[in-house]
Amino acid sequence: MPLDDVTAWVDSVWREAMRPPPLLTVSEWADRYRRLSTKAAAEPGHWRTDRTPYLRGIMDALSPHMAWERVVFVKGAQLGGTEAGNNFIAYLMHWSPGPIMAVQPTVEAAKRWSRQRLDDLVETPPLSGLVRAPRSRDSGNTTLLKEFPGGVLVVTGGNSAVGLRSMPVRYLFLDEVDAYPVDADGEGDPIDLAMQRTSTFGHRKKVFLCSTPTIQGHSRIERAFLESNQQRFWVPCPHCGAYQVLTWDNMRWTEGQPETAHMVCPVNGCILENTDKARMLPLGEWRADPAAEGDGKTAGFHISSLYSPVGWLTWADLASDHEKAKASPARMQVFVNTKLGETWRDQGEAPAWEPLFDRKGGYFVGEVPEGVTVLDGRRRRPARPHRG
Ligand SMILES: [Zn+2]
Repeated sequence: MPLDDVTAWVDSVWREAMRPPPLLTVSEWADRYRRLSTKAAAEPGHWRTDRTPYLRGIMDALSPHMAWERVVFVKGAQLGGTEAGNNFIAYLMHWSPGPIMAVQPTVEAAKRWSRQRLDDLVETPPLSGLVRAPRSRDSGNTTLLKEFPGGVLVVTGGNSAVGLRSMPVRYLFLDEVDAYPVDADGEGDPIDLAMQRTSTFGHRKKVFLCSTPTIQGHSRIERAFLESNQQRFWVPCPHCGAYQVLTWDNMRWTEGQPETAHMVCPVNGCILENTDKARMLPLGEWRADPAAEGDGKTAGFHISSLYSPVGWLTWADLASDHEKAKASPARMQVFVNTKLGETWRDQGEAPAWEPLFDRKGGYFVGEVPEGVTVLDGRRRRPARPHRG
């Protein structure tokens, strides 16, 4: 080979080796690299975003090159939502390394998550080999800490101020935030403590908040969602093509016969069957609420179990759940929170309106009484028992 050719060849190899990795979004990365193990997944093998099309927009907002600093995901059960978090963590470790913190409601829950979810993730390609085996001495691999080339993942609980203060992080995964304690070890709000860890990374940080909601007015995920652009997943009616959000109000079935469950298209009254979701979900799109002001930095996504893919949770299952829950407010709360992904309005905690009304005095709305110089509109967080 003439010298010029050799030089050209070396040059091309060099250029190839030095080329930065392509900008893959989290969903593109997952479709290319993610494997679901037989141990942890109901449908093992290659990850396919097409199976849960609504996760695409959420995962792509989590991609480091997207401008969103916070991504908020309010979800029902049986949507594969947990995998959005797993794909986010796996993407970062493999494709865009940096310091990461994953927070579960408690340290105990964090250990459980690490053993049941994370270990499986790091033992499956393409992550296998990135984190050293836990038995080797000084391996940088413990239940609550995983070192990998270019970064480290720290796992902790919302009840541990020490854990939440551990190190500066660029990526923060706050999982099941509505189950966090009000206060971490007397040092304040666990989300605030964790968020402070990201301050050194400015606009380059990425925070993922994820949860099933709880009580209206007390729900952290609701509060974060209200600060976002409040997107919901719109899908086309298979008959008239009208785009709509699937809501519980449009659900119909004959009492005692949940197997008759179907939906009524709110635009033209068409009948939608559970299996129609196979055609509707791939054509779905996230649309922001035009009335939502948002803070410009937070992408918010809300989705209920009505969207669970065909073959998972059915509308008949949900109708049946609803019938069983009807008699008990406690069970109905679980249904509303975990299936509809909505907050529960707790009647018991709200004071009766009459005594309050009687105390209002003779003021008009918007009128500031004489002698008042400062109006304090801050909300005080009511005490709530620790959970988890
Ligand atoms: Zn229709």
